[in-house]
Amino acid sequence: MPIAPFDLPSAPWRTRFAPAPTGYLHLGHAVNAVYVWGLARAFGGEVLLRIEDHDRIRSRPEYEAALLDDLDWLGLTPDEGATAEYRRGRHPLRQSDRYARYDDVLAGLAAAGLVYACTCTRREIQEKTGRRGGELRYPGTCRDRGVDPATTPIRRLRLAREEVTFRDLLLGERRQVAADQCGDLLLRDRDGHWTYQLAVVADDLDQEIDVVIRGQDLLASTGRQVQLARLLGRAEPPRFLHHPLVRDERGRKLSKSDRDTGVRELRAAGWSADRVLGEAAHLAGLQEAAKPLPAARLPELFLGPQR
Ligand SMILES: [Zn+2]
Repeated sequence: MPIAPFDLPSAPWRTRFAPAPTGYLHLGHAVNAVYVWGLARAFGGEVLLRIEDHDRIRSRPEYEAALLDDLDWLGLTPDEGATAEYRRGRHPLRQSDRYARYDDVLAGLAAAGLVYACTCTRREIQEKTGRRGGELRYPGTCRDRGVDPATTPIRRLRLAREEVTFRDLLLGERRQVAADQCGDLLLRDRDGHWTYQLAVVADDLDQEIDVVIRGQDLLASTGRQVQLARLLGRAEPPRFLHHPLVRDERGRKLSKSDRDTGVRELRAAGWSADRVLGEAAHLAGLQEAAKPLPAARLPELFLGPQR
């Protein structure tokens, strides 16, 4: 595992485990958790728990409760926003509790002249750009149209065309130009919901996250998040580690609909927590055999066995 302690901030640094309560925990989450807790426990990091329930349509309280229960069962304890504290009435950071903060973020960007209202539907953007599939780049249709903000909840960020360079702890230096990838960033959608991009950048800023550890499906988002974070006053972006995703037999990313990989299903089928973590570490390529691995021994994946 090519992680050297000198690539990480000096201890104690902070990372986060940030599931969306739109389904049950599955082996894909467990792989992410193995990286998050393993690296944090190996190299003096703290793990914060964040419930990313910005998706108001698909998030469910019962998924959140199940998620916290599964984490407890796996023996993965956050250092802040801990599951036990949650039950005593102290909550992990939850995006749906933070709308007032996101309002402030938007107002700050608007005051700097960086926000405009937009009326475009996804279909109109597709027609305009002639693209289907892949990431849709907003062509800037409403940028200088002076759309009356009272007529639509959609807000976009006026994104300067600049190259963002960041260092990934696994992949090395990466360069991205968000203006060419996605165009002016969507901050609030047509239903008035905050977007993942706005919420995650504000949360990482407010929780003082130093290291973001997540799957490579989010790699394309990183440049725009760094750019937005700078606009919010964050001079030094977090460090990033984007790990490979676990695929099913057909090479597809695991999803919440894959019932056979759900932590709940594995529990019900008699798997131990150690076996689930061992399987996740194996799928992640961090241990050769799928042998059981208790949470307390996750650091060995990055340090080698301790005597
Ligand atoms: Zn528009």
